[in-house]
Amino acid sequence: MKFFKSKPCLYFSTEYFLGLCEKGPRSSFDCNKYRKIRDKLLENKVVKPSHILEPRPASWDDFRLVHSRGYIEKLKDPMFLAKILFLDYVNPFDTDIIDFFKFVTGGTIQTFLTAYEKKTVCFNLGGGFHHAKKDKGEGFCPVNDVAIGIARFFNNFGKKRVLIVDLDYHHGNGTAKIFENDEDVFTFSIHRDNWDDIDKENNMDILLPDGTEDNEYLLQLKLYLPDVVDRFKPELMVYIAGSDVHIGDTFGTFNISTEGVLKRDMFVYNLAKHCGIPMGIVAGGGYGKESWELYYNFIIHVLGG
Ligand SMILES: [Zn+2]
Repeated sequence: MKFFKSKPCLYFSTEYFLGLCEKGPRSSFDCNKYRKIRDKLLENKVVKPSHILEPRPASWDDFRLVHSRGYIEKLKDPMFLAKILFLDYVNPFDTDIIDFFKFVTGGTIQTFLTAYEKKTVCFNLGGGFHHAKKDKGEGFCPVNDVAIGIARFFNNFGKKRVLIVDLDYHHGNGTAKIFENDEDVFTFSIHRDNWDDIDKENNMDILLPDGTEDNEYLLQLKLYLPDVVDRFKPELMVYIAGSDVHIGDTFGTFNISTEGVLKRDMFVYNLAKHCGIPMGIVAGGGYGKESWELYYNFIIHVLGG
C-alpha cells in the first residue's frame, strides 16, 4: 500500500475575507467562513500558526492561462465584477474586490503545486469557483481558480493526468467546459442538475434527485469513483469539497447529514492516500451557518489521522 510522503499542508490568507464582506453580498454565504476555520484550528491547537501557509496572490497573467484577454479586461471594472457576485451595486466599489479572488486563486495554485511537489494532501481554506468559464463568470464565480491552478500545475511540471473530483452540490460545469478538449483532465462531478452538456470522454456526471440521503449518495460515490481512479490513473487529484450537499444548506436540496459529509470527504481522502496520489483540496460552495464547520471537521480528521 502506498501512502503520502509528507504531512498535510494548509493555505489561508486574511485577504480571504477582507474587502468582499464589507460590500454586502446578497446571499447567505458566510463571509467569515474561511477565517472561522483558521481561528478554530488555532484555538483548538490542531495546528501551530506556522503550519498555516500564506499564499502569494495570483496575477493577471495567471488568470490569462484560462480566461480570455477580453474577459479579463471586463473583470478590471468593479461594476462588472459586482454584478457576477450579486453585490448591491448602488454602493460605490473599489477595484480591490478582485483582490479576494487573486489571493484565493493564489492559494489554490500553491495548494496544487505543493501537494504534487511534496507528495501529500494540501488544503486551501477557500476556493472552488468552478462555474467560471473562459469568457464568462456565473454562479458567484468570476474566475475559475481550479482551472487556473491546474494550468499552472501543467506549466510547472509538464502535462500530467489530473482527476477533478467535484462533489459540490452544483455541477462543475465551468471547469469541465474549460478542459472539454483536454483528455488529460478527467472531470468527475456528482450534483443535482447539469448546467451544461459536456462532450468529452474523460467526464462523468452523476445526477441525484432532491432529498438524496447519505446512503444513496455514498453508494454512488463508492460505485463509480474507485473505478475512475483505477482506469484513469491520475497523477494529481483535485477535490472540491463543497458542503452545500448538507441538509442545512440554504441553496442545496440534498439531505446529507453532518456525518454523511464527513464520510464522503474521508472516502475521497482515503482513496487518494491509499493509492499514493497527491491531492489538492478546495472548499467549494456552502451557504449555511454550519458550512465552515463541515470543512473544518474534514481538516481535523485528516490532520488527526
Ligand atoms: Zn455549489
